[in-house]
Amino acid sequence: MLRVAVTGGIGSGKSTVSARLARQGAVVVDSDRLAREVVAVGSPGLAAVVQRFGPSMLTSDGALDRAALAAVVFSDPDARRALEGITHPRVRARFDELAAAAPVDAVVVNDIPLLVALPVAAGFHLVIGVGADAELRVRRLIARGLAEADARARIAAQIDDDTRRPLTDVWLDNDGAADDLADRVDRLWSERVQPFEELLLRGAAAPRDRPEPVAHDPRWTTDAVRLLARVGRAAGDDTVRLDHIGATAVPGLPADDVLELQLTVSDLAAAERVGPALTRAGFVAMPNRDTDTPHPADADPARWRARWHANADPGRAVDLHVRPADGPGWRWALAMRDRLIADDAEREAHLARQRRWAAEHADDPDGAGVDAAREAWWGAAAEPLARWVERTGWRPGPDSRV
Ligand code: ADP
Repeated sequence: MLRVAVTGGIGSGKSTVSARLARQGAVVVDSDRLAREVVAVGSPGLAAVVQRFGPSMLTSDGALDRAALAAVVFSDPDARRALEGITHPRVRARFDELAAAAPVDAVVVNDIPLLVALPVAAGFHLVIGVGADAELRVRRLIARGLAEADARARIAAQIDDDTRRPLTDVWLDNDGAADDLADRVDRLWSERVQPFEELLLRGAAAPRDRPEPVAHDPRWTTDAVRLLARVGRAAGDDTVRLDHIGATAVPGLPADDVLELQLTVSDLAAAERVGPALTRAGFVAMPNRDTDTPHPADADPARWRARWHANADPGRAVDLHVRPADGPGWRWALAMRDRLIADDAEREAHLARQRRWAAEHADDPDGAGVDAAREAWWGAAAEPLARWVERTGWRPGPDSRV
């Protein structure tokens, strides 16, 4: 089952997007409805609200007095956090229950205004953000029957689009016509959501064109942080560290648009143990690769074993390396990245090498020539990197989590 979140500020168009996805066949779970359910009359959630905020939060017939509660939490951030501490976990648990009851090949869409932090985003395979200019949202909300002051207060109480965007995998701008949004949602469904669901069900990674280097994209960093949160959630207690590695992690460097991520685990047994959970989270195990190529100076093959995963999301190419801590391949990945960041000459040399290989093998359709050139370089590259590590006293710094 593919778990998709649709998020955005009030009046951005979340419900509109969700309804369109439902038309395409998604099972939509509306969090507003769940939010009402978890504080319904007689619910443990309502009891918790009364315990925290007092009996004045109840109407004469014992239901939640929404206006009274709203008056308290809108002006008091601590109170709002306390309320969210009561409702959010219950909404999530109820969502999990409903999702578990859906068919295995379903796309379950959760319309979720409360998606405000990475750990929540990490529970979904794909997060779709919907954004629109705040004034436009106010006008649309007024048209929907809300009082202007109420619309403005609600918008002001939520996180803004700049804060929300890094939590999302796809961003839909909804400043234009409703038809245009519907078309883009339909395309998103057929080109990304549905293939993602099918690939996930089959346990297959998304097919890729041979990547071409593109200019460095600053979004690579936020994308990596978000995807690493997903990886970390899937790997749970086996997570030792989570890193964005490879050329996309080097500011300014052109690179193939494939994010390379490294999950560090304690040993090879852990790398195998986390495999199924990573596959379920959309990072599919690649059965044909189980080792880095040993360097001549450290040729014990057992020390180079690792596991690889690739993303089933056709819209975001990811290679996930799962390596035991302190192995030579693990150190190489971190040290090479850090040297490229720190050392201008090495970055130039890296670019020159990439260009030379591309030119020399321009007529080579499957890229085997570049792979062979890289392999030959790799054998000779250990020593210069070891010297750099020695000279600079390099050690792995903090990982890429924020
Ligand atoms: P949300 O669920 O994020 O609060 P809605 O999907 O309910 O937002 O949209 C808010 C209001 O704006 C609704 O009345 C909806 O019909 C309308 N709306 C959404 N998108 C557009 C658009 N592109 N053009 C005009 N009206 C829109």
